[in-house]
This record gives sequence, C-alpha cells and structure tokens, in this order.
Amino acid sequence: MVETTRNPNWTRDELLVALDYYLENRDDYFSPTGKGVLELTARIGLVAKALGLTGSDTLRNAAGVSMKLLNFRSHDPEFETAGLTRGNKLEKVVWQEYADRPAELRKVVATILNTCANCVTEDAPVLQDDDEPEAQEGRLLSRLHRYRERDRSITKRKKASFINKHGRLFCEACYFDFTKVYGERGDGFMECHHTKPVSEIEKGQTTTLADLVLLCANCHRMVHSARPWWSMDQLRAALKKPT
Ligand SMILES: [Zn+2]
Ligand SMILES: [Zn+2]
Repeated sequence: MVETTRNPNWTRDELLVALDYYLENRDDYFSPTGKGVLELTARIGLVAKALGLTGSDTLRNAAGVSMKLLNFRSHDPEFETAGLTRGNKLEKVVWQEYADRPAELRKVVATILNTCANCVTEDAPVLQDDDEPEAQEGRLLSRLHRYRERDRSITKRKKASFINKHGRLFCEACYFDFTKVYGERGDGFMECHHTKPVSEIEKGQTTTLADLVLLCANCHRMVHSARPWWSMDQLRAALKKPT
C-alpha cells in the first residue's frame, strides 16, 4: 500500500494570491502547463513555505492551482457555470471579500509576496494559535502586523511620549488605567495597536508614533477578534452603545 500524505487545506494567503491572478486573467483557460499558471504555482509555493505548510511532493502543483482558478470561475457571475459550485467555503468568502476590489487585493498580494521574499516572518513571532482569527489579508500579514506593534523600541517611545503629553497611560478607547485598577503592578502596562493595514504600508516605511494607539488588553483583543479588524472609530462606537 502506498502511503499518502494529506496536503493541508489551502490558506487564505494562498487563495488571495490565486484570486488576484484569476481577476487579472479572467478569460484564460488556466491550463496547468501554461506559463502563467506555472509561475503562479511557484509563487504560491513560496507562500506555503513561508507559512510553514508541509505535505507531499504535490503540495500546490500546477494541476491543483489550475483547479482552484476554475473554482473561482464558479463564483464569477460573468460566467455561466451553473452547477459547477464545487470548491470550499473559504474560496467563496475570499471571492466575496475581494472580487469587487481588485486594486486593493493587488496591494495585499504584493505585500504578501514581498513578505515571503524578505522572510520577515522568520524573525516575527509566530501568531499564537489562540482564538484570534487572522486578518482578512491572511496569516502572513497578521504576523507582520503583530511583529510591528510588538516592536519594543517603538512601543517604549510611544508610551513615553503619551506620558509626556497626558501624565499617565490609559486606553485610548475606553480610558482604562492599569495603575488605577491594579496598583503598582499595572505601571507601564498598555498595549500598542498599529492602525494602518499592513498592505497600506509602503515598502521600507517604518512605524511612526502616529501609527500607533494605546489600547488596554481587552480593547486590543476585541479589535482583532473577528474579520475585518475594527478601526478605532468602530471600536469607540461599540463602546458607546447603551447597555
Ligand atoms: Zn480599553
Ligand atoms: Zn493590533
């Protein structure tokens, strides 16, 4: 009996890269031997590698990639493919999120590929397998986001400048003050949240103090607890809701 390794399911990151290609080449047949599909397969392979996915030798081969592209077509209203609605739920979700926003998807995919190329994620803390879902932009950009907002030197400077201005630290959304509630143990305790989507950050651009807001652990958790992540306005609006 031949032992087969089951390949892991496609990730959001890989599907985003595939969808971007699909939208650019909508009328193509997506032949698995075509240059475009072969190049796309190589790019998706890099993403899978950066994510640490492992499987058999056939992990993301051209035939599988071609099939994914055709699955996207089954969601495409421009094509008559009634009855061809196979494929998984995530494909449909990704289609609904990005099919009408190709320019935005382009930026997201460029950042994902750039992240793989730079191997930034190797130094970045791996996103904990907790109950926080990855961003709409995928797992690699979620890691990059956390990497940026946990950068010790910038968070230290952010807190110092905040104290300089307000005399103490408090959550910029709910005004929670760790020292007031927990005493000495709460001194200096506050999380930083990066307000810019990773795909909006230009190449080589570093985090500035203005990109960061101070949030208590609860508020920060709520921002990241579902897709899409909340903006500061959305977080503040939720806090204002009468109970
Ligand atoms: Zn708060
Ligand atoms: Zn954050």
